[in-house]
Amino acid sequence: MNGTYDPIKRAETLEKYAVKGDSRAYYRFRPAKWYGGIVTGDVTVCNLLCAFCWAGDEIRHHPQKVGKFYSPEQAFKRLCTIGDKKGYRLMRLSGQEPTIGREHLLRLLRLVDKTKYRFILETNGILIGHEKDYAESLSEFSKVHVRVSLKGTNEEEFSALTLAKPECFSLQLKGLENLVSAGVSCHPSAMVSFSPSENIRKLQERLAAIAPFLKSEMEIEELILYPHVTKRLKKIKMGYNIGHDPGCVPKELI
Ligand code: SF4
Repeated sequence: MNGTYDPIKRAETLEKYAVKGDSRAYYRFRPAKWYGGIVTGDVTVCNLLCAFCWAGDEIRHHPQKVGKFYSPEQAFKRLCTIGDKKGYRLMRLSGQEPTIGREHLLRLLRLVDKTKYRFILETNGILIGHEKDYAESLSEFSKVHVRVSLKGTNEEEFSALTLAKPECFSLQLKGLENLVSAGVSCHPSAMVSFSPSENIRKLQERLAAIAPFLKSEMEIEELILYPHVTKRLKKIKMGYNIGHDPGCVPKELI
C-alpha cells in the first residue's frame, strides 16, 4: 500500500506544536541505556508516522497535550543535570523529530559544543535532504554526529511503513548526501525487519554510491515489539521477519 502525505508539508503544518520562537516542545528528559548510556531529551512532533515508532499514540497524535516548551538554555540545563549526575559523555535529542525547530537545535548545539559532551542527532534526515543549508549549518559544530534512520530499504517499504509518499524515501538518502558534502560526521541506520536480504543489499549499493563508508557503517535497526507497535502492525496487516521483545533486545542493538 502506498502512502499519500508529504512529510515536508506535514512538518510545516505541525511546526506550531513544536516551536515557539527559539523554544522547542519536549515531553521528557531522561537517562537512557542506548550507546552505553546517554542523556536524552525527547521532543514532540514528527513529520513521519512510522508504524514501528516506539512513541505512544498520544505523543504522535496529540503533541499539544504532552509537550512543554523549553528554551535552548533551559533544555541544555536539564540535559547537563542528568548527564553530569550519571557521568555520561553523550547527549541526544530523540522521541520524535529533532530537526523540526532548526533555530532551537542550532542554539542547543552551540551550547553543547563548549562542553565535554558528544551530541548524537537522531533524525529521519528528511528536512536535511530538503534544505541543503541545513547540513551546512550543522557543519559548524565539532561535537555533533548525525544518525540518519532510514525507514525501510527502498521507496516501497518506506511508504508502506510510514504511509508517506514513496518518493520521499529519496529525501532520506539526500539528507545523507548533504551531510557528507558538508563534512558532517554521520552514519545511516536502517530498519530492516520488514526487508528481504536482496533489498538490504540494494540499499547498501545505493549508500555506497553516495560514499563508500555509508555502506560499511550502516547500522542495522530491528523492530522492538512494544504492545502499541504490535497493535499498529496488526491494524495495517504488516508482517515482519524479525522483532524483539522489549525486555530481550540483543546487546549489539543497544
Ligand atoms: S521518524 Fe522516528 S520519531 Fe518519527 S515516526 Fe518514524 S520512528 Fe517515530
